[in-house]
Amino acid sequence: LTVPDIVTIPFIEGDGIGPEITGAAQKVINAAVTKAYNGKHSIEWKEVLAGGKAFEQTGSWLPDETLAAFQEYLVGIKGPLTTPIGEGIRSLNVALRQTLDLFVCLRPVRWFKGVPSPVIHPEKVNMFIFRENTEDIYAGIEYMTGDANCEKFKKFLIEEMGVTKVRFPETSSFGVKPVSKEGSERLVRAAIQFAVDRKLPSVTLVHKGNIMKFTEGAFKNWGYKLAEAEFGDKVFTMAEYQQIKKSEGKEAADAVYKHAVKEVKIIVKDVICDAFLQESLLHPEEHSVIATMNLNGDYVSDQLAACVGGIGIAPGANINYNSGHAIFEATHGTAPDIAGTGKANPSSLLLSGVMMLDYLGWNEASVLIENAIEKLMAERKMTADLYSQTENATLLSTNEYADALIS
Ligand code: NAD
Repeated sequence: LTVPDIVTIPFIEGDGIGPEITGAAQKVINAAVTKAYNGKHSIEWKEVLAGGKAFEQTGSWLPDETLAAFQEYLVGIKGPLTTPIGEGIRSLNVALRQTLDLFVCLRPVRWFKGVPSPVIHPEKVNMFIFRENTEDIYAGIEYMTGDANCEKFKKFLIEEMGVTKVRFPETSSFGVKPVSKEGSERLVRAAIQFAVDRKLPSVTLVHKGNIMKFTEGAFKNWGYKLAEAEFGDKVFTMAEYQQIKKSEGKEAADAVYKHAVKEVKIIVKDVICDAFLQESLLHPEEHSVIATMNLNGDYVSDQLAACVGGIGIAPGANINYNSGHAIFEATHGTAPDIAGTGKANPSSLLLSGVMMLDYLGWNEASVLIENAIEKLMAERKMTADLYSQTENATLLSTNEYADALIS
């Protein structure tokens, strides 16, 4: 990206706790940018509407002007949105992702010392999850039992496709899982490029290809092929390892693998999703960048977020690495139960802002914020969500927390 000194960032304030965490995050980001660059760089925040606030003011949940602003300015940030019920919209977030074709959902997972965690060694959890954002069962192709299309689909499967192995009781519903070579490749390409840029040791393809051979299995195979074809000498894949093992034996394959690790190549490997969920708890240090499909990515992201303090502190972004469009976002919802009480933790949105600053190349500012969070967590100065699970902690309101980070 070519980034001007003053960057206009469209932002959606969000519903529920949205206004509180957005205000807090913006003031910390502004302070960090000013301090890091002595006023040479700054952000001009441009509010755009979505969700409940948009509906109240314009009658639309997602006005065209909002989409146009994200199109125009490339990089934006958003608070959580209320999902309208019974309005014919599945999710505003999905609508945003689809319109801008934000094909990567990136979730970094790292632990700050002092944050309560259910695992014994949270310091070993340091991963970047690349979740495919546009395909898989999330495409929304579903047929509800009793609907005419459901009956049609059932008939099609039995009569046209000759599906005889499966029993279809009368009350059956169906979902379709579309997966493409192009969609899988662009996700895996982005994950490997990220590992190359940051000099990370491995990329793990997480899939369920042992059962869903032509969708999840294809994702794995396309991923391996792309790694070898496009990243050549920079990577060593476990598919290559298997080939050497088959032709030259295990010893020879192990020797090549060891050499690759020593040569600072990125090891591209794969793990079945259920095994990964276990392995990532028992040996998180074995994994660095994770590339996975949509539904697996959903499960994996939340499990790993729980290891490092939960949704109040886990950041995320939706990115199209080809067009440059990116929306950084809090990973949690609108938390209506605590809205307006000063109990909300703004860290998820703030750390998404840190990712945004990195994306703009303003790393000097992002490091200041991360260091400040690290310091407050080590001192156990926390918002209510973490405070309630931590001994000898000091309770701060959303605003006090932001002010403490700034000072
Ligand atoms: P939620 O994430 O809003 O809340 C779950 C629990 O986590 C609540 O107890 C809440 O108090 C707590 N929590 C969430 N964020 C917190 C924070 N920053 N600090 C402290 N505590 C926090 O999930 P929900 O209750 O299932 O959903 C509420 C609404 O949010 C729904 O309308 C849902 O559709 C929407 N939602 C939006 C998004 C999004 O915009 N990305 C994501 C999930 C849910």
